[in-house]
Amino acid sequence: MLELIVKTSTDLPPDVRAAMRAASDLEPPDTRSGQALAIININIDQAAQDVGAICQDTGMPTFEIHVPRGVDEMWMEEQIRLAVVEATKRGILRPNSVDSITGKNSGNNLGAGTPVIHFHQWAKEAIEVKLLLKGGGCENCNAQYAVPVELAHLGRADRNLEGVRKCVLHAVWQAQGKGCSPGAVGVCIGGDRASGYAHAKAQLFRTLDDVNPDPALAELEATIMGTVNRLGIGAMGFEGTTTLIGCKIGAMNRLPACYFVSVAYDCWAFRRLGVVLDAATGAITGWQFRDPSTPVVPMADQAGFRRTGREVVLTAPFSEAEIRALKVGDVVLLNGRMYTGRDSVHAYLTKHEAPVDLRGAALYHCGPVCVKDGDTWIMKAAGPTTSIREEPYQAEVIRKFGVRAIIGKGGMGAKTLEALKECGAVYLSAIGGAAQFYARCTERVDGVSLLDFGVPEAMWHMRVKDFPAIVTMDAAGNSLHKDVEAASAVELAALKG
Ligand code: SF4
Repeated sequence: MLELIVKTSTDLPPDVRAAMRAASDLEPPDTRSGQALAIININIDQAAQDVGAICQDTGMPTFEIHVPRGVDEMWMEEQIRLAVVEATKRGILRPNSVDSITGKNSGNNLGAGTPVIHFHQWAKEAIEVKLLLKGGGCENCNAQYAVPVELAHLGRADRNLEGVRKCVLHAVWQAQGKGCSPGAVGVCIGGDRASGYAHAKAQLFRTLDDVNPDPALAELEATIMGTVNRLGIGAMGFEGTTTLIGCKIGAMNRLPACYFVSVAYDCWAFRRLGVVLDAATGAITGWQFRDPSTPVVPMADQAGFRRTGREVVLTAPFSEAEIRALKVGDVVLLNGRMYTGRDSVHAYLTKHEAPVDLRGAALYHCGPVCVKDGDTWIMKAAGPTTSIREEPYQAEVIRKFGVRAIIGKGGMGAKTLEALKECGAVYLSAIGGAAQFYARCTERVDGVSLLDFGVPEAMWHMRVKDFPAIVTMDAAGNSLHKDVEAASAVELAALKG
């Protein structure tokens, strides 16, 4: 089980690699999406080579298990829990299990409902264990529609496959770059609210290149894939040619009164693998979604992340003048001190003084994987988290503490944009999921504040070098996210049919 977790968290399956390679081939390298894909590709290689988490958000470990009659499921569950604890200790999984009442992180990925383990009995003799690691950013982009429903830019979705098509397009458009596009969707038509979502997620266990055995659903999947990329949202919502790399649709019977379309959105860091076990010995007899005898082709070309020479090099703390000089589309390379802060830190800062001086600082929306080696903290994975969750707090934090650069992914809203303009601050998009890449931009961890919030939610004091990010909201009131959303809404309306 430990081997399965390690491989799933660190090595992207071949079908996802192939889809990402195709996406990279379509994107001119000097575009924002092209640069994002270059960093993503480097990150995929780094994770596999160094056996590090592809993305710092290692998600909700979800095990789907088929067993023959007579297998001791309670014993197996215990082994899985032990493997999860060990993988967390090694920094392969981030501590991701938070008590919903107290807010306390269990620290070892065990807790009520964590990990998710589903057993199913089957007539075969072997045991099959499939694992999906799906992070919170893309989980927040899931959508469920009670059809008929009126959809923005698409009109009414009726209770038929045409209505399903509209719901899927709407869900992808709504996700923009927040779920770390290019993504893939699993869809369920029917079921009830709970089984619909579960079946939608189960579709993510299909390979991206398979063909649906139901001809009507196969046609619907092909139709969606043939048109969805006209939305132009691109990698990380930066505008580009590939927004979706897969659409897999299943169906369940429904109650006469209900017609749900459930959409499970997964990001480019689409981590799922499986093993077949000998039921007598527990030995791995085969892998699913990968062939260990086929050599892995590196994702990144030799050039890696190409610098154009136009990058703006900045060292924190920043002055107002150098921040106001930045414009949407500029690529920056950040150096010096950077503080992480996400949900708990933002809520805290609105009620308390900051534990550090944030004047001119870079505040990074990031919940890293950090492990302690003696007295030293080691940054193991450090990609950005979805920024829009901090929208209710961000403007106040900028005004109160004089923060000059917010770094995250997916963009922020009108309140933050107004505060950036007023105070002379900027929003920078880092590349979502590029956890290994950004961990390598971290020279060292100087300290940590508010560790009581748990590892992902604490305020880490990072020292970075040549940390690349793209200005997507500037101090003049421009927002790339607003522009891409508006342009993609026009394309969405054109797909109304
Ligand atoms: S790649 Fe993005 S959406 Fe996916 S788990 Fe990582 S941070 Fe979340």
